[in-house]
Amino acid sequence: MMTAEWVCTRCGSTNRALVPDAATRAEDECVTCHTRHALERDARPVRWRARPVGKKVA
Ligand SMILES: [Zn+2]
Repeated sequence: MMTAEWVCTRCGSTNRALVPDAATRAEDECVTCHTRHALERDARPVRWRARPVGKKVA
């Protein structure tokens, strides 16, 4: 397992999620505002890209 770090698009909080080493996608919930985000591994392995899911936000 490894730690994926991502920044909430809604409140700006930094979150950390444990993901399998080989994973390129994950899903996690912001600890602060509980918005669910789809995470995508970026070129830099530690900081993942996040976009909100479950609500219609462009
Ligand atoms: Zn948040």
